[in-house]
Amino acid sequence: MNTAEKLARYVLPTYSRFSVSPIRGEGTMLWDADGKRYLDFCSGLATCTLGHGDNALSRAIARQAGDLIHCCNLYQIDKQAELAECLVEECLGLQGRVFFSNSGAESNDGLVKLARRFGKERVGDGDESCHKIITFHQSFHGRTLGGIAATAQSKVKEGFDPLLPGFQHCPLNDLGSLASTIAPDTCAIMLEPIQGEGGIHLATPEFLRGVQDLCQQKDLLLLLDEVQCGLGRTGDMAGWRSIEPSLTPDAVSWAKGLGGGFPVGAFWVSDRLTSRDKPLFQLLGAGSHGSTFGGSPLACTAALAVLREVIDKNLPQRAIQHGQTIQTSVESWQHRAVTEIRGKGLLLGIGLRAAAFDAPENTPASIYLSTELAKAGLLAPPAGPDTVRLMPPLTVSEEEIQEALGIFKYTLDSICN
Ligand SMILES: *Cc1c(COP(=O)(O)O)cnc(C)c1O
Repeated sequence: MNTAEKLARYVLPTYSRFSVSPIRGEGTMLWDADGKRYLDFCSGLATCTLGHGDNALSRAIARQAGDLIHCCNLYQIDKQAELAECLVEECLGLQGRVFFSNSGAESNDGLVKLARRFGKERVGDGDESCHKIITFHQSFHGRTLGGIAATAQSKVKEGFDPLLPGFQHCPLNDLGSLASTIAPDTCAIMLEPIQGEGGIHLATPEFLRGVQDLCQQKDLLLLLDEVQCGLGRTGDMAGWRSIEPSLTPDAVSWAKGLGGGFPVGAFWVSDRLTSRDKPLFQLLGAGSHGSTFGGSPLACTAALAVLREVIDKNLPQRAIQHGQTIQTSVESWQHRAVTEIRGKGLLLGIGLRAAAFDAPENTPASIYLSTELAKAGLLAPPAGPDTVRLMPPLTVSEEEIQEALGIFKYTLDSICN
């Protein structure tokens, strides 16, 4: 049996996989067992921040693995303390506390628990309920029971009810609809400043400011899911600042890019005071939340190596420049198969005109194009039926970008009708 056959035989069929089987990587490149080379503009779904085989990252992991892989949270973990300090002081510059998890969905579950505690505290001993969280159409917040309840896409919820109650969904960038959905039982608003899986849709600066105003007026938590857009990819360590620098969230979740491919997630909670004069982070006190693996010495060492390199080499600035190069090139094609290019930095989505593709029946344009791009040596993952994403490592070179754009243009020209 080859890899595809073994996966089909032994692994749950929850993913439809492309026929690409990488076994080795270096920088932006991946190779399969036959020596076929791919430019990786998927980066493990915006995860391999420093590309593949990065020396500083792999050496840090190897060294730490020899010293201490795991030590649970009953003890003081030096690397965890260092990583939390770096996230608070260097990445955000906003005072608060960090909790470490192992994935994006877990981090978001933590935000949901924070919001529930916040709502309980707001209403006090009365019997009113205040637990509802508003999220936005086409969002993606993960695959746990909390994550799918928060996600406003019916395909992730299908067949799993009864779902975790307490979520309401509004259209993104529609302040009127949001304002009219907020009720006395609303405790929080949660959003991705740039929606990733839903197709690279950006919240507008006006919308973000409006959300912040509503949260202040109605005493709601402003929760940002920066699992995909955070920590440098969009041009700022705080992803939302690449859209609206004045925003001050109450809590932020991370995962994907944080470990450069090593699984690690986190969320930050502000130390601002609640209406009952308690620092927000104290709503999750001793015994209220936990994770056996979260914040292990090995995971934190990996994340520290990633953040050091992202910050010290000013990779967010490079992401902005590379992103502009890509946007300008794609726009200059004026290709009939392309409706637009959206995004910030190196979190980009190319909108496709389905009618321009002779895709096989039941195959969305995005899947068809991603498949053909992979055959031509470029990995660019779909996001929804009519968007293909470009999200290379932040270390990508100008030459690699030109090569990828060449493959993209050539493939569009050869498969479009
Ligand atoms: C990927 C993603 C998640 C889920 O992260 P996992 O690590 O897969 O659990 C949550 N939110 C956003 C915005 C994501 O892009």
